Amino acid sequence: MLAERATILTPSLTLSIDSKAKAMKAEGIDVCGFGAGEPDFDTPEHIKVAAQAALEQGFTKYTASSGIPELRQAIADKFKADNGIDYKSTQVVVSNGAKHSCYNAILATVQPGDEVIIPSPYWLSYPEMVRLAGGEPVFVQTKEENGWKMTPDEFQDAMTPRTKMVIMNSPNNPTGAVYTREELEAIVEVAAGEDILILSDEIYEKLVYDDAKHVSIASLSKEAYDLTITVNGFSKSYAMTGWRLGYLGAPENIAKAVDAIQSHSTSNPCSFAQKGALAALKGDQTPVEDMRAEFDLRRNYMVQRLGTIDRISVVAPQGAFYVLANIGRLGLSSPNFADRLLSKHHVAVVPGVAFGNDGTVRLSYATSLDVIKKGLDRFEEFCRTL
Ligand code: PMP
Repeated sequence: MLAERATILTPSLTLSIDSKAKAMKAEGIDVCGFGAGEPDFDTPEHIKVAAQAALEQGFTKYTASSGIPELRQAIADKFKADNGIDYKSTQVVVSNGAKHSCYNAILATVQPGDEVIIPSPYWLSYPEMVRLAGGEPVFVQTKEENGWKMTPDEFQDAMTPRTKMVIMNSPNNPTGAVYTREELEAIVEVAAGEDILILSDEIYEKLVYDDAKHVSIASLSKEAYDLTITVNGFSKSYAMTGWRLGYLGAPENIAKAVDAIQSHSTSNPCSFAQKGALAALKGDQTPVEDMRAEFDLRRNYMVQRLGTIDRISVVAPQGAFYVLANIGRLGLSSPNFADRLLSKHHVAVVPGVAFGNDGTVRLSYATSLDVIKKGLDRFEEFCRTL
């Protein structure tokens, strides 16, 4: 009955842990959840007000499929001001979340048989999107000692005549790695040598810590600009996950193809949500910095605590809101570790196998410092029993 494409997808491991944690909570069990993939803050008030006003004014009809012109222009302005990238508004497509932008970009460029290089650990939707497009994901295992970053040599070694694209995600989910300008330049040099497209998922750009700086690949050179599709969105920077709004900027022909795909699949992103997004870009940016500062406090605490647990190692994340803990010396597979930690100690983490690395688990610090303290006490206790 089913099309082959529907049968090749891996069921989401994160969702199964999540539903077990939710069921336990519903039974009244005090679960410390480190599984969250979204900020625990509310959307800033002025953004909600703008969307409410749009609703009241009857802004409830279809819009242009790529998004309302003023939002596309505001995004083009943002790309210029924050990222140093020159995209015209016609090179910008607004979609139903950055996930949708990534999927559209892959559908528009990857053909059956094409290979797409994905540094691992990776955000778990990339390989499935590539498979849905008929492409083949090719994983590059990055090393903890390299800060979980792909080196140019590792990238070069993974390349074949069928390589079409590489997916870069800095700041990274799940590792928190942030590539430096020099590191990105070296990646671009390898890609440009073979005309490999670069999908640059920059959704966590506003969440960087210490002296890390977010650098946009498309800003590096003319070559980089021509090969790169830049994805970003509102979910993480403005705590707007449920609004479902993301966007991409790309060379004109790719943006046009993405628009065509979107116009025949989902049409436009939600009309009044776009007005909220416009307020997010144009309005007060202090809520973004406030969130970042709070995440930073939690990050420091979590990294410091995990660092003191015997046989656990972590690379201090420089971005996003996750810590990837190496559990390889404890002798359990990551699903087994996560399952036992949840059942016996009531702490939910995501097994690293979901991100392509079974020797790790991911802990999100998008939860209160109190929960983090309590959860890490339990985590430590559990590790001691192994
Ligand atoms: N890219 C990465 C790396 C992510 O972690 C996420 C959200 N988990 C997304 C994209 C998708 O975000 P959105 O809510 O905008 O679809």
